Amino acid sequence: MNSGISIGKIWGIPLRLHISWFIIFVLVAWSLAVGYFPLETPGLSQSVYWLLGAVTSLLFGASVLAHELGHSYMALRYKVPVNSVTLFIFGGLAQIEQEPTTPKAEFQIAVAGPLVSLILGLVFAAIWLLIKPLEVISLPSIWLARMNLILAGFNMIPGFPLDGGRVLRSVIWKANNNLQKATKVTALTGQIFAFGFIAVGVFILFSGDFFNGLWLAFIGWFLQNAAAANVSQFTLKESLRGVHVSSVMQRNIPSVSWSKKLDCIVEEDVIPSGGRVFLVTDGNGISLRGLLTLRHVTAIPRKRWPELTAQEVMIPRANFVTVDPDMQMLDALRVMDDANVAQVPVMVDGQVVGILTREDVTHYIRMRAEIGM
Ligand SMILES: [Zn+2]
Repeated sequence: MNSGISIGKIWGIPLRLHISWFIIFVLVAWSLAVGYFPLETPGLSQSVYWLLGAVTSLLFGASVLAHELGHSYMALRYKVPVNSVTLFIFGGLAQIEQEPTTPKAEFQIAVAGPLVSLILGLVFAAIWLLIKPLEVISLPSIWLARMNLILAGFNMIPGFPLDGGRVLRSVIWKANNNLQKATKVTALTGQIFAFGFIAVGVFILFSGDFFNGLWLAFIGWFLQNAAAANVSQFTLKESLRGVHVSSVMQRNIPSVSWSKKLDCIVEEDVIPSGGRVFLVTDGNGISLRGLLTLRHVTAIPRKRWPELTAQEVMIPRANFVTVDPDMQMLDALRVMDDANVAQVPVMVDGQVVGILTREDVTHYIRMRAEIGM
């Protein structure tokens, strides 16, 4: 969700429009211009209906943005960084970097969005009440009031990752003092609601209302994906909290000389050691020149192995990122994600002291789960 058109900054947070947002913008404008407005206030010209539709659709987008900024404002108050706010087809997304550290913070950050929507709903309803006869303003207002109230209500459905799920999680977390348990419970309610949406959507679809049914099923599918991704992300973060690179890395890393041919490396190094990653050193075996992985070797046709040296296949020293043994594992994973690599050498003062691979991380988490830590 990082792609999209930048539309400015608020409180230092970049605001973006994802390309899919334009679909919903046009759909809303269109349905208002050809359906709602001509039906409620007949006799105006086509261009006026379209203008009203576009402005109302834009204000609806702004309402969704305000909802996300509600979350963002509270997050910033709790010193939780917000990477960006993006509008996309299913609504808005505030990318809040970390999980809140207390149930109170989680509760307030989660509730702030629906609260903004509720207030906007009431404001638009008040505008409608005050100037009912002036239909070009009162009709968009009552529609926006309804949409904002629906937005508040929908988001308060108590299933993770919806705001209501986060609110419920904070309450269970506070009551049990156990974040993990709270996450599991609300993930489950989230999945139940998601599958409920899909089921109801499919039912509506087959009873003839194709568009609304499909839409509801899509929302369910989206929620289901988001819930699952959130839970696995959370489990990863929980099991690596406070763990340093030094506890996870492999310390004995075999090395090969950079002039060694690939067939010899496979025969003399890979097979006997079972290693998948090798340091490539210069002729004296002292300074590090690069990194050679089994995947690099196997990507090359076998018959070419006798011609190529480690140096010709390795990732050169200048091209790879490294981590520190004292680094937090979550930070190290971020480094690996940013560089899009599956392994990083662990270095201290220019010396390689270990290697960290994604497999090591998975292995470490599985081992801890097995011994019940
Ligand atoms: Zn929200």
